[in-house]
Amino acid sequence: MKHAVLALAVSLLLSTVASAQAEDLSKAKALQQRIITLDTHLDTPANFSRPGWSILDHHHADEDGTQVDYPRMQEGLLDGGFWVVYTGQGPRTPEGNLKARDFGLKRLAEIREMAAANADKFEIATTADDAARIKKAGKKIVYISMENAYPLESDPSLLSAYYKLGLRMLSLVHTSNNDFADSSTDPKGPEWNGLSPKGKAMIAEANKLGIVLDQSHASDTVFDQMLELSKAPIILSHTAADAVNEHPRNIDDARIRKLAAKGGVIQVNSLSAYIIPTQRTPEYQAAARGLMTQFGGRSPRELTPAEFKQLAQQREALNAKFGVRRATFDDYMKHILHIIEVAGPDHVGLGADWDGGGGVTGLEDVSLLPKITQGLLDAGYTEAQIANVWGGNVIRLIGQVQAAADPDAVKAILD
Ligand SMILES: [Zn+2]
Repeated sequence: MKHAVLALAVSLLLSTVASAQAEDLSKAKALQQRIITLDTHLDTPANFSRPGWSILDHHHADEDGTQVDYPRMQEGLLDGGFWVVYTGQGPRTPEGNLKARDFGLKRLAEIREMAAANADKFEIATTADDAARIKKAGKKIVYISMENAYPLESDPSLLSAYYKLGLRMLSLVHTSNNDFADSSTDPKGPEWNGLSPKGKAMIAEANKLGIVLDQSHASDTVFDQMLELSKAPIILSHTAADAVNEHPRNIDDARIRKLAAKGGVIQVNSLSAYIIPTQRTPEYQAAARGLMTQFGGRSPRELTPAEFKQLAQQREALNAKFGVRRATFDDYMKHILHIIEVAGPDHVGLGADWDGGGGVTGLEDVSLLPKITQGLLDAGYTEAQIANVWGGNVIRLIGQVQAAADPDAVKAILD
């Protein structure tokens, strides 16, 4: 018995030592200093208009739910990425489309204003070369992307205006079908059998201007058609692997191989409900919706810190009651390592869906990104391979897409 207690004490001590060693991230951090670290799906612009919230302040995910700000980017050595103009799909009516148009332009302006107001710390990037130049100048890299082309439904030619103002990546659709394409998760099923005629025209226009096409959220048929139609390689800006957790929002290995064969890149998503089986039954979902009505139907972003804490506690209790668990860092690494193995390290990156539902237990915000670097080192990847995963691959893709653009069309807009 005594021996058993001693053995337990020794093993506890050893595991403490082991975890202390695992937490020594100095090598990973030093590596990230030498490379460019990007994430291709930062939903952080949704926080820019939050009362009292500043990108320059250090926030905590458990206090206000946010995951990206300048101090935490510094801690996690995140150099920047694609900052998203995200619009939730609403009614596909003339009024709905105009509302989405105005919403998108407002969000775009907020991103540009954030960079302008903090010009010593952030800079808008529009070309592949901008990333290294901006990092060298000691600033954070702000590429701009659009998630859901709903703001372009009323007038697709607005894409040119967006391009002029910095947009360099475009996804057509979000969680429900729209005028451009079928979503992977619309309960009504496919409406266009992939892309609509308007969606196909948008692909041609994006190719012409050198805007990276993003398939994340679209259906598998859209993936097949986009890969076929696009004259340049495409991206999946925040998508996880079907082979690790089967979900309509994830992608299968055969398609990952096709993407890579055409020069494309997949950026791995960390959103819990996509990366592990969720057990989110209709009863659970109804209870979760009920929770939000207690807060007057406001979004978590609109709550005060005290209300946010209350919501987080109640949600935790709800999850415990229904046996719903949140994914862990190890769950996320499984997707990353699997996708690297299938696509090869030159066709993978990270798009964790920060401030858009991403983040897992053990990787709650961007301050912890060196854990991923360490995970890649532990898996035997070289510094050059890790540099490609963290930024090299997506930067190469931006360059390829721009090289395939129509120079006259680009010149007509930029001059
Ligand atoms: Zn998304």
